[in-house]
Amino acid sequence: MVRKPIIAGNWKMNMNPVQTVEFVNAVKDNLPCGCKVESVIAAPAVDLAALIEAAKGSNLKVAAENCYFEDEGAFTGETSPKVLKEMGVDYVVIGHSERRDYFHETDEDINKKAHAIFKNGMTPILCCGESLETREAGKEKEWVEAQIVAGLKDLSAQQVSQLVIAYEPIWAIGTGKTATADQAQEICAVVRQTVAKLYDQTVADAVRIQYGGSVKPENVKELMAKEDIDGGLVGGASLIPESYLQLVNYQD
Ligand code: 13P
Repeated sequence: MVRKPIIAGNWKMNMNPVQTVEFVNAVKDNLPCGCKVESVIAAPAVDLAALIEAAKGSNLKVAAENCYFEDEGAFTGETSPKVLKEMGVDYVVIGHSERRDYFHETDEDINKKAHAIFKNGMTPILCCGESLETREAGKEKEWVEAQIVAGLKDLSAQQVSQLVIAYEPIWAIGTGKTATADQAQEICAVVRQTVAKLYDQTVADAVRIQYGGSVKPENVKELMAKEDIDGGLVGGASLIPESYLQLVNYQD
């Protein structure tokens, strides 16, 4: 099974629309062919219009960092998945540990968002990952498995075949402490086995799994060489055009 690699920058709450356009202009002519690697940027909602406009005609795909699970209504401050689709968004990141920890998102919310994103014709990038405490207690596999089971509830096999799952151990995010390639592989394999148990091996072979947590140009190749790692979800190193280009062109 050949899975197309997917490298996504997650800008978090950084960058404004002017910086967004500057970034896209700096990278757009040097992105790899979309036939080889998918290059994605997940940007704050306030930058998406500028990102989509600037990325037109290039190989750059666009992700939102979050959305709500209803299409419209009295939900002050939320972002509609229906409107994200209308704007031209391809992917939506859901369940990032920062959203789970700081904004109290539950597995149930995340599952509802996954359904809403598919319903609107986009693809979720579903994040999972354990805290340092959970890892030190030796419970990281059960933890991640439970997040996947809850996150995928009632999704069809066809939907899950298209899904992207990002394994991001919380202790490796923004700390400079990358999980070793073997540690990352071990849990990405657990994610794939969990999908195989819930669906079947064909679905598990199709789902793309990213590793996230201090991914940078220096370690991307080693991570991407692992059997169950199909991509990266990259914070800090995705903010600088040169380093983003090195990441997406890791095959060169
Ligand atoms: P860093 O690459 O800055 O560690 O962030 C990882 C992350 O949270 C991406 O979603």
